[in-house]
Amino acid sequence: MSPGTHDTVLAARELYRFYRAGEEETLALRGVSLSVERGETVAVVGPSGAGKSTLLACLAGLDEPSGGEVRVDGIRISHRSETERAQLRARHIGVLLQTRNLLPHLSVRDNVRLPQRGRGGRAPVPAETLLAQVGLASRTHVLPRQLSGGELARAGLAVALANAPAVLLADEPTGELDGETEQLVLSMLRARAAEGCAVLLVTHSAEVVRVADRVVTLTDGRASSAPPPHDRQETHDVIG
Ligand code: ADP
Repeated sequence: MSPGTHDTVLAARELYRFYRAGEEETLALRGVSLSVERGETVAVVGPSGAGKSTLLACLAGLDEPSGGEVRVDGIRISHRSETERAQLRARHIGVLLQTRNLLPHLSVRDNVRLPQRGRGGRAPVPAETLLAQVGLASRTHVLPRQLSGGELARAGLAVALANAPAVLLADEPTGELDGETEQLVLSMLRARAAEGCAVLLVTHSAEVVRVADRVVTLTDGRASSAPPPHDRQETHDVIG
């Protein structure tokens, strides 16, 4: 399917997630349904405790919903073993978490290569190329601890994109970034969406909401959808 055609890549139907801690039960998701189409960028917003991280984890197959289902590229990822979910994630999904997704004992380049191996077959884009795109061409051989905060965020993005995912899920991708790095991260996310990736971003940033095609608001475990508050403007393309 060519990029830009509107078909659903990520679909969540009636997701529920209960947590039980001792006597206390929390219903973090109360029947959340949402979909993200090829080439679409959806921002998920909502107050702290609304269920955003829980939703992201369920969509990524990192967590199991108590009810409902998640499909990625038509394939059900929920209600499977952890191993199966990890395999599906490696093939279809890129995840950018706030605790950056880098292993401390591997070089930046090997961190990017790791999800490429998990995907199987040839690397879709060489690790060096991805790292050059995020402005880390000269930092490929260093360890994550040798990177600055902004460099770590960009390396995390390279890792999330390493398996050329059909779906990119990100938790606060621009949290605590300087303006320049935020623009670079946003422009890379936009570029991926333009290539046909379905992008879902959990965010508090007005700048991120501005580049989204649609905003889903989570309130107390329930979702409501709306267009962005004002017309989207393309971010300045800082990468080639
Ligand atoms: P957000 O990301 O929007 O801040 P979360 O998904 O982290 O919201 O949390 C939603 C609700 O679920 C909150 O009430 C939170 O306390 C609860 N919760 C999240 N994770 C757990 C857990 N592992 N055990 C018990 N309750 C949890």
